[in-house]
Amino acid sequence: MADRGLMLVLSSPSGAGKTTICRELLQRNTTLKASISATTRPPRPGEVDGKDYFFLSPEKFQEHIDTKALLEYASVFKHNYGTPRQPVDDALNAGYDMLFDIDWQGAQQIKLIARKEMLSIFVLPPSLEELHRRLVGRGQDSQETITYRMSKALEEIGHWADYDYVIINRDLDRSIADVEAILRAEKLRRNRQDGLTDFVRGLRAEIDSHQG
Ligand code: 5GP
Repeated sequence: MADRGLMLVLSSPSGAGKTTICRELLQRNTTLKASISATTRPPRPGEVDGKDYFFLSPEKFQEHIDTKALLEYASVFKHNYGTPRQPVDDALNAGYDMLFDIDWQGAQQIKLIARKEMLSIFVLPPSLEELHRRLVGRGQDSQETITYRMSKALEEIGHWADYDYVIINRDLDRSIADVEAILRAEKLRRNRQDGLTDFVRGLRAEIDSHQG
């Protein structure tokens, strides 16, 4: 059986470029799967149910909470967001690494239940001006939403120190390479490599047989 995968949590204020980083990471890494969240937020133009999110009614979302079908959940920007538990478990058991594009509240909850399997990265924008520019440039949200998100961005940034790694997203390719380097290094950690003891025992036996 393949080694159980890792949970890679990426958080950032809205507009720091996290969604683009996630999309590119998924395209380049076939052993990485995205966790598709459930949300009560209405779809934005172009968003597809079951691909970008599972768009649920508040009642259905509550049902998922009640049946413990969510690994974590939180209220973000006046809507509910949560991670369906089963797909995550299935993918990790099959040896895939799981990518979570979730906020600090979700990161905290996953840390409590799966610290050893999780690594977390916080993505910072290069500047507040750049953040604002990206939020406006997206062109999908009203001015009121943008203003609200700017204030929430400052709140989200306040949680940067709770993360294992921090990336300042000055250059997309560089940021992606940084996430890949972090993931690769974390997978090489001694305590994450199953079967290492047996492997070394095998090496020893080989040495012994050569000497004997
Ligand atoms: P958006 O509405 O722009 O897609 O996402 C808003 C925020 O909700 C983002 O910061 C995103 O990371 C966060 N988010 C998305 N899915 C989840 C989830 O399942 N759990 C939590 N805790 N946050 C989420």
